[in-house]
Amino acid sequence: MRRRLIAGNWKMNGSREALAELDGIAAAAGAAPDVDVAICPPFTLIERAAARVPSLPIGAQDCHAAPNGAHTGCVSAGMLVEAGEKLVIVGHSERRADQGETDAQVKAKAEAAIAAGLIAIVCVGETEAQRDAGEAETVVCTQLRGSVPVAGGDVLVVAYEPVWAIGTGRIPSMTDVSAMHAAIRADLVDMLGAERAETVRILYGGSMNAGNAADLLAVPNVDGGLVGGASLTAAAFVPIIEAAAG
Ligand code: PEP
Repeated sequence: MRRRLIAGNWKMNGSREALAELDGIAAAAGAAPDVDVAICPPFTLIERAAARVPSLPIGAQDCHAAPNGAHTGCVSAGMLVEAGEKLVIVGHSERRADQGETDAQVKAKAEAAIAAGLIAIVCVGETEAQRDAGEAETVVCTQLRGSVPVAGGDVLVVAYEPVWAIGTGRIPSMTDVSAMHAAIRADLVDMLGAERAETVRILYGGSMNAGNAADLLAVPNVDGGLVGGASLTAAAFVPIIEAAAG
């Protein structure tokens, strides 16, 4: 049985004042013991967040693949562990687009994160043009094969995030979500072997909210959500946690 994971990605949002939202989120997480809940704030808020709500796993939105060295502006997985992190998102489509991250770089980051003791959430997803061209599954499975390290269990999580659904209020049909998550599971079986692949959680991400979470979470092979905008406040995020618990 895979435990559901609902992870919030604050992106470049949040402030010290915003950390007050974590109180309600931690309370809802405590009331949903069968669901794993986490928040990934900007680097600057990590230590304060971890100190404010020790029961709530705090994650980061990126890490470098190297343990240390001449990489100005970067943070290593070991540094995240020292700051109190439990997980890290790698290969988010915004980083693939804005920072030009390749599958190989994403895989190296995921490997470094897992080696440091973090859970790695590896993101994959197609653009709207790729979906319109009928290439969605090919694109996603190519990213998957290039970005996912050989690992299994709780430490490896895949997030399917159609780029065109992120922050737009649009989501794929449940049929399309089901087909993509089944394709990802089948590829994971091929890559990792059936036993390991069955332990990997596959999250859906892209405009998940209180209104659509229950439907998305009911789709086979949807083991949770990676949530952007709706994770910024307890009012928006708690109903998603409750949907996962229900
Ligand atoms: C994301 O960027 O990971 C995301 C899912 O964003 P949103 O929920 O705002 O679409």
